[in-house]
Amino acid sequence: MSDRVRDWFKVSLQIYDSDICIACHGVPDHIGIFQPDDPVEWGGYEGKQRYIRYCFCAECSKEESFLRFVEFVIGAKYQMGELTQ
Ligand SMILES: [Zn+2]
Repeated sequence: MSDRVRDWFKVSLQIYDSDICIACHGVPDHIGIFQPDDPVEWGGYEGKQRYIRYCFCAECSKEESFLRFVEFVIGAKYQMGELTQ
């Protein structure tokens, strides 16, 4: 893991006041990192890993379809140009 990636994790693994649960938009309890199999498909570069940070609450993560839902929401945000990192 490069220094840059490690620094990014340090910053990104805190929950900020502006963070919301990706599913219910409530107050998040946890931070997830979505790592797509094909980074290029998700706006990344060939040969480089792409990490997309999101927040979620304990309640939503109990849903069986939660991870599929996360992928769906992140995909929709990406399509709409809402992903900034
Ligand atoms: Zn939630």
